[in-house]
Amino acid sequence: QAQQPKAKKGGEPELIGITCKKSEDLSEWYQQTIVKGDFLEFSDVPGCYIYQPGSYRIWEFIQDFFNARIRKMGVKNCYFPLFISEANLQREKDHIEGFAAEVAWVTEGGKSKLDKRLAVRPTSETAMYSFYSKKIRSHRDLPLKMNQWNNVVRWEFKHPMPFIRSREFLWQEGHTAHLTEKEAGVEVRQILDHYAAIYEELLAVPVVKGVKTVNEQFPGAHYTTTVEGYIPAVGRGIQAATSHCLGQHFAKMFDITVEDPNQQVKEGEKRDRIKVWQNSWGFTTRSIGIMILIHGDDKGLIVPPRVAEIQVVIIPVGVNAKTTDADREKLYDEVKSISDKLEGADVRVECDFREGYSPGYKFNDWEMKGVPLQIEFGPKDRANGVVTTSRRDQEGKSTIPLTDLAAEVPKLLEQIQADMFKKASDEYASHRKIIREWKDFVPALNDKNVVLVQHCASGDCEDEIKKDSSGQVEGQEVDVRAPSMGAKSLCIPDEQPEEVKAGTHCINPKCEKEAKMWVMFGRSY
Ligand code: AMP
Repeated sequence: QAQQPKAKKGGEPELIGITCKKSEDLSEWYQQTIVKGDFLEFSDVPGCYIYQPGSYRIWEFIQDFFNARIRKMGVKNCYFPLFISEANLQREKDHIEGFAAEVAWVTEGGKSKLDKRLAVRPTSETAMYSFYSKKIRSHRDLPLKMNQWNNVVRWEFKHPMPFIRSREFLWQEGHTAHLTEKEAGVEVRQILDHYAAIYEELLAVPVVKGVKTVNEQFPGAHYTTTVEGYIPAVGRGIQAATSHCLGQHFAKMFDITVEDPNQQVKEGEKRDRIKVWQNSWGFTTRSIGIMILIHGDDKGLIVPPRVAEIQVVIIPVGVNAKTTDADREKLYDEVKSISDKLEGADVRVECDFREGYSPGYKFNDWEMKGVPLQIEFGPKDRANGVVTTSRRDQEGKSTIPLTDLAAEVPKLLEQIQADMFKKASDEYASHRKIIREWKDFVPALNDKNVVLVQHCASGDCEDEIKKDSSGQVEGQEVDVRAPSMGAKSLCIPDEQPEEVKAGTHCINPKCEKEAKMWVMFGRSY
């Protein structure tokens, strides 16, 4: 819980920073970082959280970025109801089997029991597709491309973690229908590229693109593509976002069919009706948690400039009790004019004119909130015609001439963004290990790696690997609630390290099959 600043002697409040190290207790560090950084607050419902403006603004940047891209693809935003009837929810068998354990039900309205209980949407395939069956009458109604930004509820029983695994989360869910498998497939990949771009270009988070194995794909999907992230502090993978081709399963159950426009028929004859091909794709507020876990440090949040609500904070320095009102006013005017110059260059900037707080307090406070760049300005800087800068992602200070602010600050922010991405990318790359023998598999996981192995692609073999790679991990806190201690397949990466030669044995020594492809395995969230 956030602690209120206590008053120190002389009236200045004492700032309580992050009191534990990221490397020593990640979950305590994470909790303090998000609460003290004003990103999130806990509510009295486990797994449901309050997103403060600092984190919600990131979500808005993501929305703007993604909306611009999907609009170009002809996707339109819409809204469907929160509740789904049980009859609808159960129409696709694999889908309901996959979600049954996590659905929250409404059974009462006011004082009366409902005749038929209602599901709170865990995802909206079944809520939307009865409508699709009415809406799509002819091949001319295709493709139909709709997206909604909403909240969903999945009553997860794994322990919740703010942003990363919550019971209610925010996301967008896109649902589209196409005439052909090929057209659907192209879109699945376009969306995956957009997801990778949100991570890499906005959040400075590297991801690996690939396809899920059958064991790990979405319930009811034909196939699932994914972007997989990596959390260096624990050496675990994390599913960052998924884009599914649902095939024709839902079209069959919801009767979404059109006359085949390509079928040759004699005059007067009717064409056959064919089932449409459908996709669904979702990106959630988990992304914000991944960003925090990757970039944050012992002083708290580090927000990449492109998604920072405040990119630059300017702190006036060198004023004290002896400073005359006139001198103070002059300095504050100069700070304001620096801020105006930066605003004119489209920089999101704030001046910290709070009275009763020392510059030191202010530095630490903005550091904890992750503001990418701090600028200080005082009489010494004035004399030198500069401002003094400190980057949140690096130690040390530097200066920028006052005359160059409008050009140099935006450049510096872009540099910070690029450096943050490079650091995270190098770290991920150095922890994706190619493993050729089973004896090296578990030690590599224990060294906080994810591994690339040659695998037979069978689900039973994956289960066996999960079982055989679980157990006590030396030097790491064992979370008995996390079944993820065994390694599961994260994805079949698009970028395969090399060709799998005929006759290569599957990595699992108990498996009798030949390897078919490289699969990325890892402990995961
Ligand atoms: P799905 O509809 O199951 O494919 O989920 C879409 C995406 O939601 C996944 O790729 C995860 O990144 C994310 N996700 C799944 N469960 C949660 C959760 N409980 N909280 C936040 N994000 C989630």
